Amino acid sequence: MSNKIQAIRGMNDLLPEQSPVWQYFERQIQHLMQRYGYNEIRTPILEQTALFKRSIGEVTDIVEKEMYTFEDRNGDSLTLRPEGTASCVRAALENGLLYNQTQRLWYQGPMFRHERPQKGRYRQFHQVGVEAYGMLGPDIDFEMILLSARLWDALGLMPHVRLELNSLGSSEARTAYRDALVAYFEAHAEVLDEDSRRRLTSNPLRILDSKNPDMAEMLEAAPRLMDHLDDESRAHFEQLTAMLDAAGIDYVINPRLVRGLDYYSRTVFEWTTQALGSQGTVCAGGRYDGLVEQLGGKPTPGVGFAMGVERLILLLETLDLVPEAARSRPDVYLTAMGDTASREAMLLGEHLRDALPEMHLQVHCGGGSFKSQIKKADKSGARIALMLGDDEIASGSVGIKFLREDREQESVAREALAARLQALLAED
Ligand code: ATP
Ligand code: MG
Repeated sequence: MSNKIQAIRGMNDLLPEQSPVWQYFERQIQHLMQRYGYNEIRTPILEQTALFKRSIGEVTDIVEKEMYTFEDRNGDSLTLRPEGTASCVRAALENGLLYNQTQRLWYQGPMFRHERPQKGRYRQFHQVGVEAYGMLGPDIDFEMILLSARLWDALGLMPHVRLELNSLGSSEARTAYRDALVAYFEAHAEVLDEDSRRRLTSNPLRILDSKNPDMAEMLEAAPRLMDHLDDESRAHFEQLTAMLDAAGIDYVINPRLVRGLDYYSRTVFEWTTQALGSQGTVCAGGRYDGLVEQLGGKPTPGVGFAMGVERLILLLETLDLVPEAARSRPDVYLTAMGDTASREAMLLGEHLRDALPEMHLQVHCGGGSFKSQIKKADKSGARIALMLGDDEIASGSVGIKFLREDREQESVAREALAARLQALLAED
């Protein structure tokens, strides 16, 4: 008996039926990045485990329980990247991209986290990330938000997402706040769940992020990092919100927004939606001014964000926002009856592709009856079927059949075919 080998749980195939939507999304991204002057960077999917431990932080969910880590044949500890920022900083440092210059970078690709698979949460998922280096002021934070907002506009998502904002301050301010927070949590120890008790010593800020309803009331009343900000971080935050106000971009300040990665400082933000249930964060990021130094570079400010592509595509599908034109289907399907016509059809196809580079043409291969070929033409989604048979070859013509309109069939001389198709395709 043969057992079929199946894909790894939480790792999806992207089927031909779905890929046009991804390509539509990816085209929007490429265009957007060009418009804002961001350049693409591609880094390996595997990195040394130490890179993620040092950047994301030893006591984060990602490093503690979500990474795909293994030894390779040399005994080196390698990890499938769970996110893109660490790799981006590593590559920028290694290739001298941060030396006396600013950088605006973006990337896209698969990320890997061993989480419980569910709607909007997978073990291999895809992110589009954006990172900028060497700019300290809030203007670049603002640009990141503008850029993401423009994407939501282009995709029709703006009415369905909301911007949440917080500041984590400087690391000194966070240390002082941490003490105040731990004292508060210790005074409410009886409400803390097991996870939170464990975090009390390792990563108390993350307790704020808990979704446990039994802790909600206690967390609501916890001291706020916003009230412990250092002056510079406060000014930075105020300038950013003033810019957002001036641009008419709505936001809510969420004092409990802390993010699950240790490298953030000052501005953090998330774009969230109500339309996807509990996996509602579609885009998240912030400033990480200490990370470059932490990974061995000179102190260099950094800021960035990552979008979850599966969640955004799910959102587009759920809200029915994928434009019809994004669905890939041929404009024209060329059928051919008989051996001579089949041979000629291939050449006619090439001739038409030369003449009409924008047209999507599928040439029927594999013979079959007229009826079955027209059935395939119809199923392909094409608007027009071309018909080439012995009669047409004898008279030097081609038949045009309209598959989606109540419209007379046409017979066109072969020399005039390209021009006729061009006119037909320009009709609407
Ligand atoms: P969450 O709170 O949903 O676990 P996160 O804080 O772990 O998200 P980030 O590390 O900030 O997520 O990643 C940025 C974005 O990538 C998320 O906002 C989300 O859209 C997407 N993302 C993260 N983990 C997954 C996953 N396992 N499957 C699908 N998308 C994901
Ligand atoms: Mg997570």
